[in-house]
Amino acid sequence: MKDLAPLLQQRRAEHRYRQRRLLDGPQQPEQIIDGRPVLAFCSNDYLGLASHPAVIAAFKAGADRYGVGAGAAHLVNGHTRAHHQLEEALAAFTGRDRALLFSTGYMANLGVAQALLHRGDRVLQDRLNHASLIDAARISEARLQRYRHADPDDLARLLDRDPERETLVSTDGVFSMDGDVAPLPALADLCARAGAWFMVDDAHGLGVLGATGAGTLEHQGLDQARVPILMGTLGKGLGTAGAFVAGGEDLIETLIQAARTYVYTTAMPAAVATATLAALQVVRTEPERREHLRMLVRQFRAGATELGLTLMDSDTPIQPLLVGDAAAAMALSEGLLARGLLVPAIRPPTVPAGTARLRVTLSAAHTPAHVDRLLEGLRALCVSPASGMG
Ligand SMILES: *Cc1c(COP(=O)(O)O)cnc(C)c1O
Repeated sequence: MKDLAPLLQQRRAEHRYRQRRLLDGPQQPEQIIDGRPVLAFCSNDYLGLASHPAVIAAFKAGADRYGVGAGAAHLVNGHTRAHHQLEEALAAFTGRDRALLFSTGYMANLGVAQALLHRGDRVLQDRLNHASLIDAARISEARLQRYRHADPDDLARLLDRDPERETLVSTDGVFSMDGDVAPLPALADLCARAGAWFMVDDAHGLGVLGATGAGTLEHQGLDQARVPILMGTLGKGLGTAGAFVAGGEDLIETLIQAARTYVYTTAMPAAVATATLAALQVVRTEPERREHLRMLVRQFRAGATELGLTLMDSDTPIQPLLVGDAAAAMALSEGLLARGLLVPAIRPPTVPAGTARLRVTLSAAHTPAHVDRLLEGLRALCVSPASGMG
């Protein structure tokens, strides 16, 4: 049995030790973290639905009607009418034939790979894809190759190299640490030509992008024929928990048969499904939330540019500030926290060496005054008459 203490010690020495902060109360911009009030810019609750009164009410009503635990897997007797209605609503919302619920996005990504891929197949992925897509490739035993970030030419090169092999191409729709949107139309064309599966993980686009909030695929006008596999999460823009895969009849039936992360796990609580149905209703009926969010993004970018800060190329609510050096990013994050502003520093190995950053995320629950407070904090820490950006 290995002694774990030295390994933990080494992590500490490398400044890679991870620790939780304690949140009291709901997910919202002004919150109590570790016992003190902060203004947070790090949640993925992009539309402010995690503590929306209608969503909370639907969650309570769901618990009254269905109890708390689902008690069994979907294939046994845990698949309630609420789960079923949510699947139908998600299919309609995303313009797909069917949708299938999973307990988390991580499990949905693993499940797709388990159901579709076997030893000898291959997976081609964007270099900056989310960790769950990389882990999905690993457990499928297919061969993983990565193409340069958002680079269709590099994907074309890999596709051409081994045209006969069964292939799944997968990409984030919106990249979680950079905020940019993948060039989906070009990627979809390449996959169609090569006869490869194409999968988009839209964890950060769903609810946020597109005319009706249906996500990155709606934003870029891509139907099910061009993107046969869509994975969306419910714990970010929709403010609840869980995930789904949407696509054609045969895809969904195959997942039900063969995705081990679907078959061998308890269904999510039905109340999460009733709450998510309410969240979808808010997404449909309150487009002003998305408009407000876009306005905050413009306000933040204009203010940060004026301060001479280095923004990344993003027009989504993920607005990272590039710092470069990991220690400098940490110092900036700590300086902001001392001013009551919670903005995490993201360092290697989560992002490539030399690209440490502050990951600012905005939410429709923020006000313009909140964004001004963040800009004021950044001005105080980054802009001094003598030195400029440190
Ligand atoms: C958060 C995230 C996931 C995982 O979703 P969970 O429901 O939180 O497990 C998957 N993919 C991407 C791109 C994500 O950002």
